[in-house]
Amino acid sequence: MNAPLLAVNDIGVRFGGFVALQGVTTEFRPGRVTSIIGPNGAGKSTFFNVLSGVLTPSSGSIRFKGDDLKGTKQHEFVHRGIARSYQITNIFPDLSVHENVRVAAQASRSRYNIWTNRNKFTELDAKADAALEAVGLVAKRDETAKFLAHGQQRALEIAIALISNPEVLLLDEPTAGMGPEETKEMVALLEKLAAERTILLVEHKMKMILGLSDRILVLHHGRLIADGSPRDIQTDPEVRRVYLGQ
Ligand code: ADP
Ligand code: MG
Repeated sequence: MNAPLLAVNDIGVRFGGFVALQGVTTEFRPGRVTSIIGPNGAGKSTFFNVLSGVLTPSSGSIRFKGDDLKGTKQHEFVHRGIARSYQITNIFPDLSVHENVRVAAQASRSRYNIWTNRNKFTELDAKADAALEAVGLVAKRDETAKFLAHGQQRALEIAIALISNPEVLLLDEPTAGMGPEETKEMVALLEKLAAERTILLVEHKMKMILGLSDRILVLHHGRLIADGSPRDIQTDPEVRRVYLGQ
């Protein structure tokens, strides 16, 4: 059955007197890629913070597989199967590539239920190597993270997020700062990952969004103003007015 995985109802987020999100109601069903677009400051990262437990909304509810998650801490979201990457690269620069994912594996033991000492280290090592394999970084395993190319650092960040084997993976501008070649590689990686899990994506590159997404949500001043297929969104008059500038 294709029941909603993640559902939010009437979400509001305030920072002091500033309203960053207002009346956001939607749900995400399993599978493929949903993108969230909107101008700078529209509330995209704030929405991701709510969906990944980084931020408890000021009002509204959030449910994962029917369970109420409001007020739940981020590690509980990860434990249940929701993981994310950040807009700013979030790796340990002086650790090796393998050590970066290995630290993440250690931190997500509860999701795997790996607690006994016997076989623990080899199991966690294997999980780390599998995550590097998934993002194509096996050859860079022993390199110091800070010496990776920008695109490889973003891939490493995704490997870290994959360590908990999330059902829902949220990626905030994974191609930020990338040129066309690196962007192409990231798109291929996202297509591969989307075959196995639900991906929510915040991105600015319209051509990429239109090609990759099954569904697009548009945020504007903290409100959802459109929700549909790439074709719907491209022809939506309000979206064209506020976002595409046409
Ligand atoms: P986007 O990712 O769409 O560019 P954000 O979600 O980062 O937008 O931010 C939406 C609005 O909320 C912006 O005006 C931003 O300045 C404000 N904002 C975000 N986080 C905070 C915070 N922690 N405190 C105060 N204002 C914030
Ligand atoms: Mg943002």
